Amino acid sequence: MGLKVLKFGGSSLADAAHFRIVADIVRAEKERRFVVPSAPGKRFKEDEKVTDLLYACQALAAEGKDIDDIFGRICRRYNDIIEELGLDLSLEDEFSVIREKILGGAGKDYAASRGEYLNGLILSAYLGFDFIDAQKVVFFKEDGTLDSERTYVVLGAALENHPHAVVPGFYGAMPDGSIRTFSRGGSDITGAIVARAAGADIYENWTDVSGFMMADPRIIENPKSIDVITYKELRELSYMGATVLHEDAIFPVRAAGIPINIKNTNDPSAKGTLIVPTANDSETDSIITGIAGKVGFSIISIEKDMMNAELGFGRRVLEVLEVNKISFEHLPSSIDTMCVIVKTDELEGKREKILDAIFRLTDPDAVVIHDGIALLAVVGRGMVHSMGTAARVFTSLAKASVNIRMIDQGSSELNIIVGVEESDYVPALRAIYNEFVQ
Ligand code: ASP
Repeated sequence: MGLKVLKFGGSSLADAAHFRIVADIVRAEKERRFVVPSAPGKRFKEDEKVTDLLYACQALAAEGKDIDDIFGRICRRYNDIIEELGLDLSLEDEFSVIREKILGGAGKDYAASRGEYLNGLILSAYLGFDFIDAQKVVFFKEDGTLDSERTYVVLGAALENHPHAVVPGFYGAMPDGSIRTFSRGGSDITGAIVARAAGADIYENWTDVSGFMMADPRIIENPKSIDVITYKELRELSYMGATVLHEDAIFPVRAAGIPINIKNTNDPSAKGTLIVPTANDSETDSIITGIAGKVGFSIISIEKDMMNAELGFGRRVLEVLEVNKISFEHLPSSIDTMCVIVKTDELEGKREKILDAIFRLTDPDAVVIHDGIALLAVVGRGMVHSMGTAARVFTSLAKASVNIRMIDQGSSELNIIVGVEESDYVPALRAIYNEFVQ
């Protein structure tokens, strides 16, 4: 019989009403055995996230200031939930331990982790599930990366001993036992780790949207949602700015071939987006899966006659970037020009040095840096089998009077990346979306 691991984000556990919905979702299927909660998030737009309040408390304490006002607000959030759910549970002892520790100089990670710890205690009491403290089952190495070997052995064994359990997200323990958190949004990662350790059939990631959209809803009104996306496609889209899931949450489940289903707590019957290791192409009727983009890039363009015949030219250019600790994003080139696309902020304070070094090492005819570039990625596994996709992308841009500065088609044929002036970013995205989707 299949087993499901569910992670609920902060907005899905922000108040008692949401706890009730979450309990209904969990109880609707007996395969839903392990639950990973975030800390209470915002109940309304101007509201405060408990994690932010905990960071603020720790910062005040570190400056020797009073924390009682903020700490009181945190306690109230939890007490409201407990009272409204009518639970026979008191967290007062936990609150005073946490308060003392923060005042006694506990670090940021400890303070922030208490958000999911306390929410986990409430959720386990409400669901009647066992509570497994992540500090005892999720381990980091000295360098701050996940100690997967130890985690999967210990967590796997712990899960075997519990038919149903709540494991708080976001944190684990360092080799000396002290608390460490993942980066912000890291409960997604805990959910993926629990899914992997449990050998789950599926990792359900419950949030406040019905999955991934084909394009940024701030630019495209009511974009279509994506039903099925492969891990590879998702990586391309997330790299270019599409976010719903923490990027590092993909690796644990991807390695084990476990699909992730992004679901909406406020609309549980919506299918959401299914992220899968590989997808049957016949399952998709659209050529493209999504379009994402980002601004803030620069093109370093180097010209030299007969460059194509000069051995080691590219290596020397890239060496200059390496020495200056700049990673490059794309490398389109032609016979006599080579372009390197980098993030503009990485050039900060290094422009002159880079230009000088390129001149010195490659003796070019010209080198210029052009800022203000936006990149758009048109991503889709369906592109492999359909001819003329690139032509449609370029024609749609031409019709919208967008000048293309750069083109890069990945050899996987999974994406086409175009660079345009930042001022053309929005019209370009709309033009491509309308060409393929509307
Ligand atoms: N509560 C943490 C944050 O706000 C982790 C999470 O929600 O995933 O970043």
